[in-house]
Amino acid sequence: SKQKVLLTSAGSADDANEDDGLRTLEMFINGAWCRSSAGRWFESKNPCTGEAWARLPRADASDVDRAVQAADKAFRTGPWSKMIASDRGLLLHRLGDLIAANATHLADLEVRDNGKLMTEMLGQMRYLPRWFQYYGGLADKIEGHVTPIDKAGMFHYVAYEPVGVVGAITPWNSPLLLTAWKLAPALAAGNTIVVKPSEHATASMLGLARLFDEAGFPPGVLNVVTGFGDEAGRAVVEHPLVRRIAFTGSDLGGAKISEAAARQFKRVSLELGGKSPHIVFADADIEAAVKGVISGIFAAAGQTCMAGSRVLLHRSIADAFIGKLVERMKQARIGDPNRPDTDVGPVATEPQLEKVLSYIEIAKAEGATCILGGNRVTTGDCARGWFVEPTIFTNVRNDMRIAREEVFGPVLCVLTFETDDEAVAMANDTDYGLAAGFWTTSLARALELPKRLQAGTVWVNAYRVVSYLAPFGGVKHSGIGRENGSAAIMEYLEPKSVFLNGISSISNPFTMQ
Ligand code: NAD
Repeated sequence: SKQKVLLTSAGSADDANEDDGLRTLEMFINGAWCRSSAGRWFESKNPCTGEAWARLPRADASDVDRAVQAADKAFRTGPWSKMIASDRGLLLHRLGDLIAANATHLADLEVRDNGKLMTEMLGQMRYLPRWFQYYGGLADKIEGHVTPIDKAGMFHYVAYEPVGVVGAITPWNSPLLLTAWKLAPALAAGNTIVVKPSEHATASMLGLARLFDEAGFPPGVLNVVTGFGDEAGRAVVEHPLVRRIAFTGSDLGGAKISEAAARQFKRVSLELGGKSPHIVFADADIEAAVKGVISGIFAAAGQTCMAGSRVLLHRSIADAFIGKLVERMKQARIGDPNRPDTDVGPVATEPQLEKVLSYIEIAKAEGATCILGGNRVTTGDCARGWFVEPTIFTNVRNDMRIAREEVFGPVLCVLTFETDDEAVAMANDTDYGLAAGFWTTSLARALELPKRLQAGTVWVNAYRVVSYLAPFGGVKHSGIGRENGSAAIMEYLEPKSVFLNGISSISNPFTMQ
């Protein structure tokens, strides 16, 4: 019963069991934990068991309005608006320390929600503080500048100002990592934020909000509204006080958000999907490439935007390479993501399970050959959850749907090529352009190919590497804008051009001669 609920800070609500065994979590608006104004809830299911484990407030437009108003007030008049940039940086550093101290707890929340391997989520959580430290360090290095100007007697400078309230809308696959890519630069630049995490993986964001509170961020700087995309998410995008949208998710969601944001001329960054090519040349270190290809597609059960879901093999090595892939993946342990010896966990949601299985059927119907997997797993510790066997298709043509559409599951397509030109043409023959990887021992190829591949990120003799220091984002249907790296902070700033005339005491040393 509701009265018995001990509503501790959300995300850490370890004691908040109700009679039905669900944890009740609250959302975070203006520095306070709260329920939705309509009193509605939704549930989050654990992909390993298929059962609900938490209930969360289902926010609507009125809750979003409260959150945005709080963020706007914090931006305009609150302590945040008066804080010097160095102090913002210190707060971000403090948050980083708290994340490091709570990494296991945050990882546990993510695994419950999205079923990814505990080892991977723990790695992500231990890496997460870097984003807050790096952008915390940049907070007081946003420098305006005086520019030469062609107007006699005038003085001109450019100041960089925060955009205001940022709306961050994020997916379920790496919830906190992908949110940190937005939070850290946006806050370092002096903005305030309303986050709408995925309805499939919300709890860790609430856990992070607790740490914001503990770090001492003023109320309203970070707000988290929980709920659905076409309700709470849409309200964030459409709210007139939200001036900048940072989105990671599907291309379908990205297109809707882009259209809605365009109606109010809002700045948008979109990190969308991919169908990334992963090329293995005949001169590659084959053992290393096999490992790279496997982790490129089967890590996280294929549920990464950068998944190397199209492997292009040089014809001379194809049979031997495929043999090694199959042999290695036959030994993979599928099961409980919390077990350290598990290689492949479940897919995150039931619709996702259906989608992956339907793509397997589509591929078969298109004439591709399934040489490994292809089925749901329902035995052992997979009995109740949403598990799919690691699946490999050969005899794939690049015009088949299985080679063109994002499956977002443990499904690999194998294609072959003869020449470098053919490999590049096939790699680029896709609507997407998020990432590409290739394996070679040729220095010439290693230097030449990145220029020819249409992708936001190219890995040479590596795959799935990201860093807070390296810009990440896509071309073509994979998105607009870049996250990470020092330039990302500019995505959350507006340059203001100031012309000063008639102030005789200022003599401008930059006046054009
Ligand atoms: P999704 O588009 O279904 O949802 C993403 C977020 O958008 C969720 O919070 C959802 O509630 C919200 N949303 C959906 N419709 C909305 C609307 N009309 N208005 C406002 N908000 C809305 O994506 P998903 O299934 O959660 O995530 C998987 C997708 O994300 C895959 O396509 C994957 O490739 C992509 N992804 C991209 C990156 C990247 O950096 N490029 C990283 C991870 C995932």
